[in-house]
Amino acid sequence: MTWRIEVDRHVCIGSGICAGTAPGLFRLEGERSQALREEISPQEVALDAADSCPALAITVTEGSEVVGPRP
Ligand code: SF4
Repeated sequence: MTWRIEVDRHVCIGSGICAGTAPGLFRLEGERSQALREEISPQEVALDAADSCPALAITVTEGSEVVGPRP
């Protein structure tokens, strides 16, 4: 099973919360976040980052299913 992480850089406001929450998955690049890897093994911290993004710029998917941010 693989998850895919996407950051919408048009929506990201560069708060850095994702990089602080999951430094292994995100980094700030030019005041916007970027996923270090597009594909990851399922891990709670990715959902935590997606949940805590104030701009809802992070989407985590498994196939065609959105798993994060959680409702
Ligand atoms: S938490 Fe959201 S808004 Fe903040 S840097 Fe990460 S993707 Fe951008």
